[in-house]
Amino acid sequence: MKTPRLLLVNPWIADFAAFDLWAKPVGLLSIAKYLMKFGYKIDFIDLTDRLGWEESTDAKSRDGRGHFRKTILPKPEVLSHIPRRYGLYGATREQFDSALDSIEKPDAILLTSHMTYWYPGVKMTADVLRKRFPETPLILGGIYATLLPEHAQKTILPDHLITGYGEKNSLTLLDSLFGISHGELPLPEFDDSGELPWSLYHKLKSVAVLTSRGCPNRCSYCATRLLNPRFSQRKPDDVIFEIVDTYYRYDIRDFAFYDDALFTNRDRHIIPIFKGVIEHGVRARFHTPNGLFAREINPELAELMKAVGFETIRLSLESVAPEIQHASSNKVDNAAFIKTMNVLENAGFRRDRIEVYLIAGLSEQTLEQALDSVRFVADQGAISRLAFFTPIPGTAEWEKARRKGLVSDETDPLLTNNSIFPSYSEPERAEEFKRLVQFTNETNEQTCRQTHDQSEEIDDGSN
Ligand code: SF4
Repeated sequence: MKTPRLLLVNPWIADFAAFDLWAKPVGLLSIAKYLMKFGYKIDFIDLTDRLGWEESTDAKSRDGRGHFRKTILPKPEVLSHIPRRYGLYGATREQFDSALDSIEKPDAILLTSHMTYWYPGVKMTADVLRKRFPETPLILGGIYATLLPEHAQKTILPDHLITGYGEKNSLTLLDSLFGISHGELPLPEFDDSGELPWSLYHKLKSVAVLTSRGCPNRCSYCATRLLNPRFSQRKPDDVIFEIVDTYYRYDIRDFAFYDDALFTNRDRHIIPIFKGVIEHGVRARFHTPNGLFAREINPELAELMKAVGFETIRLSLESVAPEIQHASSNKVDNAAFIKTMNVLENAGFRRDRIEVYLIAGLSEQTLEQALDSVRFVADQGAISRLAFFTPIPGTAEWEKARRKGLVSDETDPLLTNNSIFPSYSEPERAEEFKRLVQFTNETNEQTCRQTHDQSEEIDDGSN
């Protein structure tokens, strides 16, 4: 039998808004790497690859992030009351069609999925693939498929659905579909060693790096433990190799760490990684779209972050309220946060370039708690970034929201979109949320203005 040919697809995003922060479908790429090792041939289409679809028109695109192209769609019925424009983000339909024209007919298709409330984008992607290759088995996996398997099965109608890690599960399924045997060898659940197959991209300007899977913490609102029951970290040398090789081979100058717990086991993990990267002469920009554990940043790590070229720093604070910090695994407290800000400043980072995640819209969180958190961040000269809460099935906060009648098993995942959920589920708090957003924007602007004024004073003084 000829070697089976697989088509791996990263689907469109369907939402009111979407912005590309160096995102790459690392889960799907990891599955591609795993299956290639076992001899499968891979074709790969990433519908949200802005560079590939030549969507990079805005200034921010220069460092690998930017706005996706949006194709306006009619709003799904349950969202008809939202006064915003809904759309599909990523390649145009014509671009998708011509990408499909350019590949051989696949023997199986693997489609991934991300946020549960983006499922209309997965559905539209699946429909195009079905129409084009009606006889080809379609396998659905990813975050949405894992968190809401029944909804995904009913809505997307895949031939097979995989939950959890996709590597071994896909291989076992594909081997059974094609009658292939790999002997009696015990197969690893996944294999994070080595570089992701970046050559599947025709154009590449930035890469997403994952040095670990999962998180040792257990925040009450987070789905990480449902997706990654065990926390595991790669060997530092392996990560160094991936960064150094992509830097020299593909001329990559922007690296985004997508870990949930990048700084855990700091002295045995990230510190040797940064030292190794520096020793190999890499001069790049490093970014962390996910929040860093502020408590782990000591002077040595802060100096290495500066030396390695950290540009985008986002710290997790979540709240200044002790009970919310407790629900957030006590990642940091106010005193430790202040200390970290000083350490980062001493290492040469500007305070107003540091962004701080604050959770908003938790059902028991008061407006005053949220405003206090924004004020606290501003006192530290940093920028607040609100992350509105959305309940995820299987988490403690979902159960809490269910007991309060804010969600049920029948709730359409579209209504858990974090940009609408708090106001939709508790309409009486909508004004409160509006006020919080406005206050945060004004406070951030003021922080930026103050820093600008101070730096002008310093310039004047030195002339
Ligand atoms: S620290 Fe972050 S990734 Fe870890 S459990 Fe909490 S929210 Fe999730």
